[in-house]
Amino acid sequence: MNDPGSAVAASAAAARAVWGAAFDNSYARDLEGAYVAWTPQAWPRPTLVRLNGGLAEELGLSPAALATAEGVAMLAGNVVPPGAQPLAQTYAGHQFGGLSPQLGDGRALLLGEVIDRYGQRRDIALKGSGRTPFSRGGDGRAALGPVLREYLVGEAMHAMGIPTTRALAAVTTGDTVQRDRRLPGAVLTRVAASHIRVGTFQFFAIRHDAASLRRLADYTIAPPYPQPAGDTHRYLELLRAVSRRQARLVARWMGIGFIHGVMNTDNMTVSGETIDYGPCAFIEGYDPATVFSSIDTGGRYAYGNQPGIAQWNLARFAECLLPLIDDDADRAVERATTVVREFASLYESAWREVLRAKLGLGSADGDGPGDDGGAAPDDGALADELLVLLARDRVDFTLGFRDLSAALRGDDDRWLGRFASARTDAQAWLSRWQAQIGSAGRNPDAVASAMELVNPLYIPRNHQVEAALAAATDHDDLAPFERLLAVVADPYAERAADAAYAEPAPAEQTACYQTFCGT
Ligand code: AMP
Ligand code: MG
Repeated sequence: MNDPGSAVAASAAAARAVWGAAFDNSYARDLEGAYVAWTPQAWPRPTLVRLNGGLAEELGLSPAALATAEGVAMLAGNVVPPGAQPLAQTYAGHQFGGLSPQLGDGRALLLGEVIDRYGQRRDIALKGSGRTPFSRGGDGRAALGPVLREYLVGEAMHAMGIPTTRALAAVTTGDTVQRDRRLPGAVLTRVAASHIRVGTFQFFAIRHDAASLRRLADYTIAPPYPQPAGDTHRYLELLRAVSRRQARLVARWMGIGFIHGVMNTDNMTVSGETIDYGPCAFIEGYDPATVFSSIDTGGRYAYGNQPGIAQWNLARFAECLLPLIDDDADRAVERATTVVREFASLYESAWREVLRAKLGLGSADGDGPGDDGGAAPDDGALADELLVLLARDRVDFTLGFRDLSAALRGDDDRWLGRFASARTDAQAWLSRWQAQIGSAGRNPDAVASAMELVNPLYIPRNHQVEAALAAATDHDDLAPFERLLAVVADPYAERAADAAYAEPAPAEQTACYQTFCGT
């Protein structure tokens, strides 16, 4: 434990007012060796920047109590709620393909877990809470801009129904952080079903610590996830469950043009939640090779590479589980390989499902938006051809789908107007698509409306995100952030007043847009 003088324990009454029921600390209790107990750093002047009232209520916490000075002191890490056992999780990870055997929370701490209104266990963690034994060369801090980015994009993802870690609060510390210049320091309170990553398993696997590995796997399999009978299958099923969750997750990312930017194995959860919004960005003009992260010079984590990378990461996870899957090494490899290979078809069917919904076509099981008919054999080809057309003219990915609803209601021009060289082919495609919808006897208006519930109009556009973060960081002006947050938290219903937020960035701006990691 580090110097406990930096943060103080809250009175039991204050903590109860803020946190309601007690913390549970199953990670600390069950996974000794997978963390170091550690106390957050205390900051000079914690100030609440944003509280997620809706999420607080979902967690059974009182937003009003969280916003008090005592509540904010806890959100900053200055005060450790009684019952919480703050700890830095250890993990390893493949970063850009190379193994780092010792990573871990270098600027984050898990405070503990609360049971939410639905009976689900939720991790409460601080990010930007000071140095830990795993900080390596880092300062343990977070700057306000990246904290707000994580808050904003997480809420946008959540609003689009995509599994994600979420922000409960953002506070400024009253201190500054040295990056390329001095920036306001901040702490994010992050909520997740679990912070266990592929890299958590790798940490024990590369140390050949089979007992700890088994404990970690058993902890991960615990309810609410199904517990298959039998020892061998139990771990193979864990691999399969992670594969399924990740296949669905990445298909959902692809469906909204999300580029994670740093899909290292330490940033891939076993829960299937999106984690770590460092260098993420949204694709604008459609091009599968799009990369925005300044450090991803090889394009490893380009938009179109994400499914393949998820499978690569899954293979690393499978390697960790081998000793648990079968005592016979060859048999273990054979079994795990089968599951890793299955990822491709799981992903493909998840992606096809996403595309069918985006195009208002019948679902594979006949109960999608076009619910009076199942998928037709042509559906896949139609979707693929559209992607080729979008790529030819670098059509805005978001509006290239969204405007199809208007076309279905008789206004072709808006959609067609987005094409240049591919316009004639786009016209032909549109006729075939409309015929396909008509052939199933579907009501075009109903299909158009159903499509508007899956094709967002408002995503966190990179230029809007940057403008909001710059206003907050440089001018202490949170208004643009609040406005953008409100817009992306309600991504589907068109609002005249928010028209500017639906617009793509000027192409020149997108061409030189870069995001930065670990800031
Ligand atoms: P990331 O790529 O952001 O997921 O971070 C990779 C690793 O670097 C994790 O172990 C982080 O905890 C650590 N890290 C990132 N930024 C900092 C920082 N400012 N101080 C200490 N550790 C950091
Ligand atoms: Mg990370």
